[in-house]
Amino acid sequence: MRPFWRSKADDYTIIAGCGRLGANLANRLSEEGLGVIIIDLTADAFRKLSPSYSGLTLVGDATYINVLCEAGIERASAVVTVTNYDNTNILVAQIAKKMFGIEHVIARLYDPEREFVYRDFKIDTISPAVLSMKEIDKLMHPNEPSKEEVRQ
Ligand code: AMP
Repeated sequence: MRPFWRSKADDYTIIAGCGRLGANLANRLSEEGLGVIIIDLTADAFRKLSPSYSGLTLVGDATYINVLCEAGIERASAVVTVTNYDNTNILVAQIAKKMFGIEHVIARLYDPEREFVYRDFKIDTISPAVLSMKEIDKLMHPNEPSKEEVRQ
């Protein structure tokens, strides 16, 4: 499946945080032949990338503008920030959106109550807690429409 933000042949995605989620996403984009650069504080984190990963890696703090510039944020089509800190993800997402005008910015948010910060900045969020709740709800009530379906 082609990611929705992929539009031009020279576009690429910057991922902040090479944990399990960041590494999986980077591997998938790379498998699809898409441009990707992943940033992490430690080089050790890149061991999670698959041996066939063909994207770039960058050791650095993704909240630093010089690190994001080194990653080529001026030309990136998307920034996905999935470090293990909400504050870091908020900051990276705001820099990407406000300073560099990146259209597609997605941030992981452990604390769903902070979603309002992102909504104001038009940043898409994913929250493991909210996604898990939805899945648990579906498994517990397989024959009932989801709350989202009911609202529509
Ligand atoms: P996980 O919690 O397994 O998804 O891993 C999150 C990853 O984000 C770890 O590999 C951290 O080293 C990385 N990380 C945390 N803060 C930063 C940051 N400021 N810049 C880049 N990577 C970070």
